[in-house]
Amino acid sequence: MIPLCHRIKSDGKRCGSPAMRKTSFCYFHSRPRRKPKARPIPPAWPLKLPQLDDHTAIRLALTQVFNALSSSAIDAQQAGRYLTGLQLATRLLDSQTPKLRPPRPHLPRSRRRPSLDQPAGK
Ligand SMILES: [Zn+2]
Repeated sequence: MIPLCHRIKSDGKRCGSPAMRKTSFCYFHSRPRRKPKARPIPPAWPLKLPQLDDHTAIRLALTQVFNALSSSAIDAQQAGRYLTGLQLATRLLDSQTPKLRPPRPHLPRSRRRPSLDQPAGK
């Protein structure tokens, strides 16, 4: 009697091909399984971030950092370094941007509210 391959296929049925000598598997199933090639991750360190000269650029850089982190192109420690740098850039940008006061509405004299010191009606 010819020994048959012991491999159980994905459909639950036995392979059924003749087993090779001194093995329990056929020629096909006795070959070493090839591992799927790992997709090479492009070198992402350091990330190429935009010039951090306005809030839009900082938001764009933040997106790039989170995308790189979520795709495992960078690790949490590297992401932390980028985020610290982006936080610093934000603070620096905010400190250099003059705070603008909203313009006072110009109302004609007749529509101004009466002052509290003056008696009403005058
Ligand atoms: Zn087989």
